[in-house]
Amino acid sequence: MEKKQFKAESKRLLDMMIHSVYSNREIFLRELISNASDAIDKIYYKALTDESLTFDKDRYYIKIIPNKENRTLTVLDTGIGMTEEELEHNLGTIAKSGSLAFKQQNEMKDGHDIIGQFGVGFYSAFMVADEVTVRSKALGSGKAFEWVSQGADGYTIKPCDKTDVGTEIILKLKENTEDENFDDYLEEHRLKAIIKKYSDFIRYPIKMTVTEM
Ligand code: ADP
Ligand code: MG
Repeated sequence: MEKKQFKAESKRLLDMMIHSVYSNREIFLRELISNASDAIDKIYYKALTDESLTFDKDRYYIKIIPNKENRTLTVLDTGIGMTEEELEHNLGTIAKSGSLAFKQQNEMKDGHDIIGQFGVGFYSAFMVADEVTVRSKALGSGKAFEWVSQGADGYTIKPCDKTDVGTEIILKLKENTEDENFDDYLEEHRLKAIIKKYSDFIRYPIKMTVTEM
């Protein structure tokens, strides 16, 4: 399958994330949960003006799924989802606010907790994962698509079978090193602590499914 290339400025941010020695990697979860919440907000606001849509509160949630056997961490939402074009445009370019602010600030000053101060966005997933898969089905679309990237060398997009509207971000965690244990992000108590620390204000339920080995 043809590998598409990231835009030049995206690639720089991505490289920074991949090779980051930043000690506060845990903020990737804040970024993914914030995107999931934004995606549910979009359905919520649509429902306010679109009479054919009702916002049934119980149907909208975020779910965190650690899988120790596969060493994957999935962040799922029942939000608005992305079409093929949106996957390409939204994840392939860094035009987005948070990431751009980060990039500009980073050029200005070093040595500060810049990543902590700004939303660095979706690419922060690459601080903990060596492969990221985004499976998504957009509201009103019959088809679902899968975006996969191992980092700076590009990404692929292909159709996939996802029945529910929304998005699933699957992180294949990096191999552990002497200094860092990425398996930590599969531990329920650790995940709960990170969520409490950064995402306590999120107004949709954050559920967790734990698969035992
Ligand atoms: P920002 O949130 O500041 O816009 P991000 O890098 O976090 O920047 O995300 C980039 C874009 O990708 C978002 O603006 C959104 O359009 C899209 N996106 C990311 N995650 C999701 C998701 N879970 N559901 C729908 N769209 C998403
Ligand atoms: Mg974001």
